[in-house]
Amino acid sequence: MVPTVVLAASAFIAETGFYEIHAPSASQASGLGHDLDHAALRFRLHFGANPRRIAVVAFESVREMREYDPVLLNSKGVRYVPWLLKNDALDGSCDVEPARLAESAARGLPGRSLDHEAGHAFLSAHVDARLGRLPAQGPVADLSSLDPGDAIMPDWFEEAAAALCEMPESRTARLAAFRRRLWERYPLHELFTMRDAGQGRDGLPGGGAARHRFFVDQSFAVAAFLVDREGPSFIGRLSDALTKGRATTQALRDDAPSLPADVDELERLWISWVEGLTEEAAGAAAVRSASDTSPLSEVDGG
Ligand SMILES: [Zn+2]
Repeated sequence: MVPTVVLAASAFIAETGFYEIHAPSASQASGLGHDLDHAALRFRLHFGANPRRIAVVAFESVREMREYDPVLLNSKGVRYVPWLLKNDALDGSCDVEPARLAESAARGLPGRSLDHEAGHAFLSAHVDARLGRLPAQGPVADLSSLDPGDAIMPDWFEEAAAALCEMPESRTARLAAFRRRLWERYPLHELFTMRDAGQGRDGLPGGGAARHRFFVDQSFAVAAFLVDREGPSFIGRLSDALTKGRATTQALRDDAPSLPADVDELERLWISWVEGLTEEAAGAAAVRSASDTSPLSEVDGG
């Protein structure tokens, strides 16, 4: 859809019913809008609901990002995603851990992972609405954490949902990468309850960007399998069950009775599905659910 672009005091703002983008120039705002439109479409497909409005604020430098005061966004109660326009905005003079940017660069798709970050924000806003809670307040411009975590949701599901909102080529790359490193996988009973493998726990250092990426790839491979077996909107039903505090294994037993109730049996079925994917089929599985979307402009925003 074509966003409305207006000139604000210090930035251009592009907006639709699902997002507002604050950027230094109109062309930068509309460039980011491309990724957000895609993420919003994908979110609606899998969650069966229009995404709640989020805000993306784009910065030229880490300094600007740190100095930004989101008081106005906070007062509107929208989830806020800070975004650096250039990967090289992180230079030696800055002490920020560039984990998220390193992940983006490692994917060979620099600047394209706003779709993923938007997916996180759409999920958090969706959970806010389901629980009737207020969005987190205050600046969240913290690049030292790999992802915005939501205490309610298991980490695997947050990453799977964000990856489901990515561009088709990113999703295809995730399935292919996971298939090549299948032997490194976490058992499902572990994956479903563990913290993101890239983050430290109990005072121990985390595995960093590479381990985080593997964790996201595996989480997405589980979601792609569930979508293939149960249909695209199964993700939204699973999300609702998890929001109510049910464990993943229990939610799968309740809402996907055609799948094995035993998690080890489920894992064997899932692995044989992954192993059966050729590179070509991995691409098809990753994009299959994208084909039956209709333009978001046909529905109401908000
Ligand atoms: Zn993520």
